[in-house]
Amino acid sequence: MTEKLYDIDSHLRDFSAVLLSCRPAGEGRWSLLLDRTAFFPEGGGQPADTGTLTAGETAVRVLDAQETPEGILHLTDGPLPDGPVKGSIDWEQRFGRMQCHSGEHIVSGLAHSRFGCTNVGFHMGEDEVILDFDRELTAEQLRELEDAANRIVWEDRTITAEYPDPAVLETLDYRSKLDLTENVRIVTIEGCDVCACCAPHVSHTGEIGVIKLTSWMRHRGGVRIWMAAGAMALRDYQRKHDSVAAISAALSVKQPEVARGVERLKQVLADTEYALTGAKRALASEKIKAMPETDGNLCLFEDGLDQNTLRSLVNAGMEKCGGICAAFTGSDEGGYRYVMGSRTVDLRAESETIHAALGGKGGGQPAMIQGSIPAKRAEIEAYFA
Ligand SMILES: [Zn+2]
Repeated sequence: MTEKLYDIDSHLRDFSAVLLSCRPAGEGRWSLLLDRTAFFPEGGGQPADTGTLTAGETAVRVLDAQETPEGILHLTDGPLPDGPVKGSIDWEQRFGRMQCHSGEHIVSGLAHSRFGCTNVGFHMGEDEVILDFDRELTAEQLRELEDAANRIVWEDRTITAEYPDPAVLETLDYRSKLDLTENVRIVTIEGCDVCACCAPHVSHTGEIGVIKLTSWMRHRGGVRIWMAAGAMALRDYQRKHDSVAAISAALSVKQPEVARGVERLKQVLADTEYALTGAKRALASEKIKAMPETDGNLCLFEDGLDQNTLRSLVNAGMEKCGGICAAFTGSDEGGYRYVMGSRTVDLRAESETIHAALGGKGGGQPAMIQGSIPAKRAEIEAYFA
């Protein structure tokens, strides 16, 4: 079995070991077995470490690590000769993951002790950590949880990991998803949480820096929470700060006021749209008034009109023509919505001919129909001319 150096020292970045075997793993990959390793294999919701292994002048990238009955296998992009090797894990990545994982234990521990929640799901990605609890929590409770979690961080409490004897284990009250009784690794956050976990953690809660619950939703009778801690939380803050700063500058409002600034802007936009629709409606009805009376058809195009306006235009236009009055709104690219009316033509019967010639669909009463036509304006005008 491979000796788990990360179990003894979670802050070990570089180590030396002996390569016991190196086998091809297909697709240009190799599977390397070491006598000891600082590479954490995927487990407990935490992804596997990546990094490099070196023998003499030859270095290979470690792309994955997995625990097997044989030991911990390192998936690499090249082979190395059996014998002494040096290993180096991608430390920034590992430390960020430990910050998030230890942060998750604090949040889950507090959710358990304060609100009786059980953690029923945990996923750690590059930019987000997701945890599921089996009970719903209110926004106020989540804020309380976040505040309490950060107090634990600031108190810089000690985090330890050990394999207690089965007899000792039996007396322990700890959180666990598994029913194991042997080789159970217990991670203890002083005065906050005791939990079975195989992953490396920071040694003191202060290393986590900050814990932020970024989003939440009801999920399967409980709650799903998105959180960030440490470096991930800083990146999240930087991205959001850049975004808020840009909105603040664009709207000329102070940063904490941007939400109200956007609300005001939305109201201005709604008022403007309302006024614009009114103006378009007035313009279209002036156009209808200005049209000479005709025995033939009347065709009117006006962009951005609603269905009611189209209908009232057609009602006015029907009085001026002996044929069909057709009003269209839309564009050549997106197609047109229409309303057609007539005092003389049975439009319900006529619509089949119109749709056969121009495409589209629609229906209604003999005196008035509505629908859509995907044809170009020039084709439509030529048809009704
Ligand atoms: Zn864990």
